[in-house]
Amino acid sequence: MTTAVRTISLEIDGHPVTAAEGTTIYDAAKLVGVDIPVLCHNERYDPVGVCRMCVVDTGGRVFGAACVRPCEDGMVVKTSTPQVVRARAVLTELLISDQPLRVDDPKQTTTGDNKLLDLADEFSVSREATELPTGSGRGTDSSNPVIDVNHDACILCDRCVRACDDIQGNDVIGRSGKGYSTRIAFDLNDPMGSSSCVTCGECVQACPTGALTNKAIRGVAIRPREELDAVHSVCPYCGVGCALTYYVDREIGAISFVEGRDQPGSQSRLCVKGRYGWDYSASPQRLTKPLIRIPSSYPKGPLSADVRGDGHGGTHNVRGRNGGTRSGGVTDDRPGKDRGRKPGGLVDYDEVLPHFREATWDEALDLIATRLEEIHAAGGSGAIAGFGSAKCSNEEAYLFQKLLRTGFGTNNVDHCTRLCHASSVAALFEGVGSGAVSTTYGDVANADVVIITGSNPTANHPVASSFFKQARRRGTKIIYVDPRASTVAEHADIFVQLKPGTDVAFYNSVMHEVIRLGLIDREFIANRTSNYDELARTVADYAPERAAQITGVDADTIRKVATTWGEANAAVVYWGMGISQHTTGTDNARCLIALCSITGNVGRPGTGLHPLRGQNNVQGASDAGLIPMFYPDYQGVDREATQRHFEEAWGTPLNPNRGLTVTEIISSVLKPDGVRGMYMLGENPFLSDPNINKVRKALSALDFLVVQDIFLTETAEFADVILPATSYLEKDGTYTNTDRRVQLGRKVMDPPGEARTDWEIVQDIARRIGLPWDYQSPSEVFDEMVALMPSYKNLSYSNLGLSGKLYPNADPEHSDGTIVMFDEKFNTDDGLAHLKPAEWLPPKELPDFEYPLVLNTGRLLEHWHTGSMTRRSFALDAISPRAEVYMHPKDAADRGLSHGEMVRARSRRGSIELVLRVSHREQIGNCFIPFHFREAAANLLTIDEIDPYGKIPEFKFCAVQVEQLRRDSSASS
Ligand code: SF4
Ligand code: SF4
Repeated sequence: MTTAVRTISLEIDGHPVTAAEGTTIYDAAKLVGVDIPVLCHNERYDPVGVCRMCVVDTGGRVFGAACVRPCEDGMVVKTSTPQVVRARAVLTELLISDQPLRVDDPKQTTTGDNKLLDLADEFSVSREATELPTGSGRGTDSSNPVIDVNHDACILCDRCVRACDDIQGNDVIGRSGKGYSTRIAFDLNDPMGSSSCVTCGECVQACPTGALTNKAIRGVAIRPREELDAVHSVCPYCGVGCALTYYVDREIGAISFVEGRDQPGSQSRLCVKGRYGWDYSASPQRLTKPLIRIPSSYPKGPLSADVRGDGHGGTHNVRGRNGGTRSGGVTDDRPGKDRGRKPGGLVDYDEVLPHFREATWDEALDLIATRLEEIHAAGGSGAIAGFGSAKCSNEEAYLFQKLLRTGFGTNNVDHCTRLCHASSVAALFEGVGSGAVSTTYGDVANADVVIITGSNPTANHPVASSFFKQARRRGTKIIYVDPRASTVAEHADIFVQLKPGTDVAFYNSVMHEVIRLGLIDREFIANRTSNYDELARTVADYAPERAAQITGVDADTIRKVATTWGEANAAVVYWGMGISQHTTGTDNARCLIALCSITGNVGRPGTGLHPLRGQNNVQGASDAGLIPMFYPDYQGVDREATQRHFEEAWGTPLNPNRGLTVTEIISSVLKPDGVRGMYMLGENPFLSDPNINKVRKALSALDFLVVQDIFLTETAEFADVILPATSYLEKDGTYTNTDRRVQLGRKVMDPPGEARTDWEIVQDIARRIGLPWDYQSPSEVFDEMVALMPSYKNLSYSNLGLSGKLYPNADPEHSDGTIVMFDEKFNTDDGLAHLKPAEWLPPKELPDFEYPLVLNTGRLLEHWHTGSMTRRSFALDAISPRAEVYMHPKDAADRGLSHGEMVRARSRRGSIELVLRVSHREQIGNCFIPFHFREAAANLLTIDEIDPYGKIPEFKFCAVQVEQLRRDSSASS
């Protein structure tokens, strides 16, 4: 039943207006094109009416603040009488008189971003020195690496407070002091740089007076926006896919600053990586010429001393800062690069480059084509494999898999989805017939209850997490299930800190209780699912008391989760790699699918299944067929009809056998008849894959390795040929985010030196091995893809627009696309959700006397994957420069370890040395190491046991010991 909205009628500046009851005068005025000036107000924030700039005459004794004053029936509003204008002018004069005079800061000297200066111009208020003292002596704060604070320019409008609290949910900014000395405060009036601020920059984007401003990065001055070129694009880091605008100084060819851009998903929000992490592209370490290994540098092996693994006991150290060289193949004179800066923990170019010589593109491409063809001729299709990249565009992923499949007859093509959500995709395909999310992250606003599980979204999907936090403020209950008490736990209604590797037992028990209490949706189960009875029989064995013994979660908490979830009208599960990166990853995801299905929580607004995808284009790369068992759009390579369809489309016979996955390819290289030649496009398995010592052996054993990348990565050290590719900022292409939103990334600047776009390089290799390719542009490739991908039907470069479009989309010209999938049926053959029960199984390597701790690996907010981009970003490296192991205070005390000291972490596969961070966020008996840092590579410790269905490694669980460095060193000497 819908409730009729009461409307009221009034007059604004002579215009009759009809508006819904509760509409403010400011919003009603907009309806008739009347613009009322504001300082403290912005449509994105709840109005507070503190600055009084928007005062209007409503016929009463005093003027009313239009941003907060609701319209009344019959009201007559005048927004620009001489008295109203005079009130605003006086207010502006008072505010301006108190501003510091700065001539070198564009926010203070131009009207581009400074609303107060705009008003000064409008009311002819002089911005020159007045007789009054300027500024109130409240001070400045430069402690943040990329944000300046000038308290004297602050007018206490609270926009930054609302931006930080209400939009990003970070709750950092408040006020301190009294009267004239009142100022905004970070935490307990701490310097911004040492507060809990996460440098999302939302407050800078909000500030109307230049009290909060961006600092220049790499010496590129921040100029007025009207002097800059605005390029609308998408963030290149995580799967949230935030829309942004790069402001480019064309005179020097460098990015000046970045802002969030409105789009239905991200709604102008960004995190620190999107807003400040773009300068990697201007690094002096960019590859600019093709490189060929010189004959004297065979046999191959890792060259940099700090990643030389030596099997058991091989130790890697946190070393001093190195690199920063510009010898062979890395000359780069572009503006914006920091010539003097020496990036930390990166490949030592001085050590590695002498093993290569510069080559022409023709020479390098000819050599690649010849060697790969030779290997193919000698060993057949099984001898060739390729790793593509989820950082590249959809078009590049499509062409790469097409090259491997049509040029070498192999399905041995995979990418980092195997290390991220392959098990989620396996379970989703089996359960609902689609590997994509069933609803968006923004749909959280329609949910009564959400479960966020195996995920640390404030670090890994920060903008999505801001919507989760915002939803909670509006009443959505958050159940957070994770072994680590990450920041989301502070926003949770119920925090379930279960033991790692016990997810199946926990969710089986929740389902046990949901069924026992009759909180299931019988109609949905009867009409929309299959195999419920078997599921019910399985979970019947998981009474909360039994599950409590396995999970460490008390039985009452399990019951509370069951009732909270079961009684919700609409509920969503958002999950991360804490679910997928286990040998039971597929079972974990099966449980989540079952939990949603038996409670009818799929197919309606505010319900559904959402694996939060990691990389910016992991969804798109998977959609485009960069996986060994599927052609584009998840069409099975081993289905005869599908194979015939693609053979017809691509004009060549195709291999009917499923290919090898990432970890299987690495294992295959070590076998006599395995993979001998590899093409690595933008992947760095030396750091990203489990059990690095094994990866090292495999990379060394390859007969031929091509690495195509923007930097000399750890994997490139093993290459025969290295090709310099363009970064994300130097090319056009489409990217598909975690929501299924296909967006255009646009070229921002020219590539350095001879670097070329990935799609063109792949095409050149294809032509050299005889494929008749003649693509002229990424949009042409996109059109070919779309013709073969039913899910992407109707999409084209011309209808994606500035916000992109969700797929499926019946009418992209007029519609944003489908938010909620499966409203009537699932994508399975019979249209039903296939419930697959799972029994709990323990992880593969349990702690013991020698290795008593459980290691969990993952990401930090400031870094991305193997760090090749983020560790070359000034802001991100400055905020998070070193490798650390996180450990509970009791575990540290038991070992006599202190916060900040160097320790050794070792497993059965190797050891690393890094700094100890004592953290209450870890459980006793567990520790956490981010995997971004080559000098303390977490994946030297991890095991390569894989999930049998998704073939994903168990990155989230292996047994380790952490100990004092000194004691261990002396013991081993
Ligand atoms: S940068 Fe972000 S987290 Fe930091 S104070 Fe501003 S809004 Fe808050
Ligand atoms: S949340 Fe993800 S997509 Fe958005 S700005 Fe941050 S890293 Fe980029």
